Amino acid sequence: MTVQSDRAAWFEGGEAKCSQPPSPNDRPFRLVLLGPPGVGKGTQAELLCKTLGTCHLSTGDVFRAAQCRNDHSPALRTALDAMRRGELVSDGLVVSMVQERSNCLSCFGGFLLDGFPRTAAQAEALDDLLDQQGVRLDAVLSYELPLAEIVDRLGGRRTCSKCKAVFHTTSRPPHQEGVCDMCGGELIQREDDRPESIRVRMQAYEESTRPLADYYEKSGRLLRINAAGAPDEILERSLEALQAKASAPRT
Ligand code: AMP
Repeated sequence: MTVQSDRAAWFEGGEAKCSQPPSPNDRPFRLVLLGPPGVGKGTQAELLCKTLGTCHLSTGDVFRAAQCRNDHSPALRTALDAMRRGELVSDGLVVSMVQERSNCLSCFGGFLLDGFPRTAAQAEALDDLLDQQGVRLDAVLSYELPLAEIVDRLGGRRTCSKCKAVFHTTSRPPHQEGVCDMCGGELIQREDDRPESIRVRMQAYEESTRPLADYYEKSGRLLRINAAGAPDEILERSLEALQAKASAPRT
């Protein structure tokens, strides 16, 4: 199994370096994951990173890590307030945050972006950043599931307060209730997984993020993945779709 990096370069930005850089990867995958909140993107990101040796770059994780510090600039404070309400953070702030971490996009281990881009403006900014870094996206995996199932998944989701591993009260319970299997950290319900925030997040997804699937479909980068079933089955589907795309003639 691949040793996961601590992602310090992503969490801290600027000149920060990961203490365990990824191993050189003969085939570095560069992927974006799309899908509504609760569709299982975080779990798939974890499994795909372990299988492909890529680094998990989640913009939501950066905001949650920032929440634990108390050196917030006014712009960051506004962003964190928006996040607590389940709203999207402004494009300007998110794009400049990713820009500050753009070395992660050309990392030789590859990357898997989770939660970015979320709007058309962010998708265009990402294409520009990738051009500047001289790398191209291999694919955008779009996870799809009926709404009722999504709401059930979100309500039962529990996240490790330390390592951010994701569990579910019924479909992926930890061995010991409330305790992370990976690191022993406390499992919590994210503030934005509470019912009032879930409703706002679903609306933000429908309005801003769903149209991105069309943006990537037009440029031949979209792979639609049925997100029903166990995490391993969904992983299998994702890997098959990536393989089929890699062996298809380029359009
Ligand atoms: P996530 O963990 O990806 O669901 O992100 C949690 C929250 O962080 C979101 O509900 C937003 O408030 C904020 N956020 C994360 N990524 C973005 C983004 N790309 N654009 C706007 N807001 C974001």
